Amino acid sequence: MIPAPFSYHRPKTLAEASALLAQHGEEARVLAGGHSLIPMMKLRLAQPEHLVDLAAIAELKGVQRTGTSLVIGAMTTQHELQGSKAVADAAPIIREASLLVADPQVRYVGTLGGNIANGDPGNDMPAVMMCLDASYRLTGRGGPRTVKARDFYQGTYATALKAGEIVTAIEIPVPPTGHGYAYEKLKRKIGDYATAAAGVILTVRGGKVATCAIALSNLADRALLAKDAAAAVVGTALEAPALAAASKAARAIMSPASDTRGSVEYRTAVGGVMVERALKRAFERAKG
Ligand SMILES: Cc1cc2nc3c(=O)[nH]c(=O)nc-3n(C[C@H](O)[C@H](O)[C@H](O)COP(=O)(O)OP(=O)(O)OC[C@H]3O[C@@H](n4cnc5c(N)ncnc54)[C@H](O)[C@@H]3O)c2cc1C
Repeated sequence: MIPAPFSYHRPKTLAEASALLAQHGEEARVLAGGHSLIPMMKLRLAQPEHLVDLAAIAELKGVQRTGTSLVIGAMTTQHELQGSKAVADAAPIIREASLLVADPQVRYVGTLGGNIANGDPGNDMPAVMMCLDASYRLTGRGGPRTVKARDFYQGTYATALKAGEIVTAIEIPVPPTGHGYAYEKLKRKIGDYATAAAGVILTVRGGKVATCAIALSNLADRALLAKDAAAAVVGTALEAPALAAASKAARAIMSPASDTRGSVEYRTAVGGVMVERALKRAFERAKG
C-alpha cells in the first residue's frame, strides 16, 4: 500500500507542465485529484517516476459560459461543478451525474479532467460527455488539438491522449432550452462505481422525441454511445414498444465484465433497465 518512490513537480503554468512532461517522457504522469492515480500507485499498478501535479495551474480551473458553449477547466472539481450555476443552468445532467460519483470526500478533490482522462469504464463523466457531444481540449508537444468525447475512448485505460498531452478543458455545446436529461446509475452502495448506468439527452417537439443521445457507463471496456437505441425512440412519444426497442438495441452493444457487481447477464439486464428509466425521466423533464 506504499507507492514506489517518485519525484513530485508542481508547475505554475501549463507551459511549465508541458515542458516537464516532455522532459521526463514515459516516466512522467499528470496528477490531478489523485483519487484514481494514487490508489493505482499504492497497488503498484502504476509506478511513475515523476508526478506533474496540475493543482497550481490557475488557467485549468473554472467554468465559463461563452455564447452557445460551456467551457469547464480540467482541474475543476466535482464539488465545484455541483455548485456552479452556469453548469446547472446549461447542462443539468452534469450536476445530476456528479452527485452520483463516489462520495463527498472524493468529489471535493476529484476533477472533471481526471475523470474523463482516466479511461476507466467505471468513470461516470465520459458517458455524460458523450451524451452532450462534448469536445476535449488537449495540449502537448504537437500543440493544441481537440478530440470529441465520442472519439476519445479506445478501451480500458486506453484513450486518444498522446504521451505528454494534458486535457486543458472540456467544451460542451449547450443543449437547447427545455431539453430533457437524466443519468440513471445502479450501484451497490454510496460511493460505488456503477453496476450499470445510462445517460440521456433529448429534445421533444409536438409531444414526440425530436433528437436523442444515449450513452452507457461500465457496461463495456469503455463508455459507449448507444446510437441505435437513440434512433429507436426518435419520432415516438416513448410508448412501450419504443422503450423496449431502445433497451434491446442498447443491450446488444453491452459487454460488461462479470465481477463482484454481477454476472454479464445481470449487468446487461439492468443496463437495459437504466436506459428505459433514463429515457422516461428525460422525456418527462423535456418541454416541447
Ligand atoms: C472510493 C472511490 C470511489 C469512486 N467512485 C467513483 C464513481 O462512482 N464514479 C466515478 O466516475 N469515479 C469514481 N471514483 C474515481 C474518482 O472520480 C477520481 O477522482 C477520478 O477517476 C479521477 O480524477 P482525479 O482528478 O482524481 O484524477 P487522478 O487520479 O489524479 O488522475 C487519473 C488519471 O488521469 C490522468 N489525468 C488527470 N488529469 C489529467 C489531465 N488534465 N490531462 C491529462 N491526464 C490527466 C492522470 O495522469 C491519471 O492517469 C472513485 C474513487 C474512489 C477513491
